Amino acid sequence: MTKNGKKAIGILAIQGDFAMHARMLERVGVGWRLVKHARDLQGVDGLILPGGESTTMLKLFASEGMDKAIKDFAAQGKPIFGTCAGAILLATEVLNPPQERLGLIDMTVERNAYGRQIDSSVRFGECPELADHPVEMVFIRAPVIRRVGEGVRVLGRSDGLPVLVEAGQLLAATFHPELTQDETIHQYFVNKLGSDS
Ligand code: GLN
Repeated sequence: MTKNGKKAIGILAIQGDFAMHARMLERVGVGWRLVKHARDLQGVDGLILPGGESTTMLKLFASEGMDKAIKDFAAQGKPIFGTCAGAILLATEVLNPPQERLGLIDMTVERNAYGRQIDSSVRFGECPELADHPVEMVFIRAPVIRRVGEGVRVLGRSDGLPVLVEAGQLLAATFHPELTQDETIHQYFVNKLGSDS
């Protein structure tokens, strides 16, 4: 919560692609704060885990106690949105190779699973509950969601694969919605804050 009582979303800013999320939140019209330390989570109502390199983020998490702080944040029912590397961090199981994770969304993700030739691409996908238009999706060395658990809803698909999933207040995209002009996904996440944001 900011001083004027408005809600704000934290953007994890220890590594990776956080600046474009801030720009997208400006467009959606919600406050934001960069989160560099575990204590920064105290002032925010939701959290974005951006793309980047999940292995690097994990190393920084361990030294900072950030992993426990994020799990506590989720346990308070606060919304978290992970994009690409952020989605990998949220999963309960990571393949290629197996690695540590926060284990907050019951799903198995395979890192860098689109292969080297098409390791980055722009495609369109369907998110029927969110938008009645095809959603532009930027994939950059993206993971593939290989399995989702019972409580996990698939909200978006591209080429038949799940690319946007939700488990209660938690949202994960294997693509980068912040790199397009389409606010659909961020708007959906911001709505999780409740009506007084
Ligand atoms: N390949 C990266 C990882 O495994 C994710 C890439 C991204 O976030 N754009 O962490």
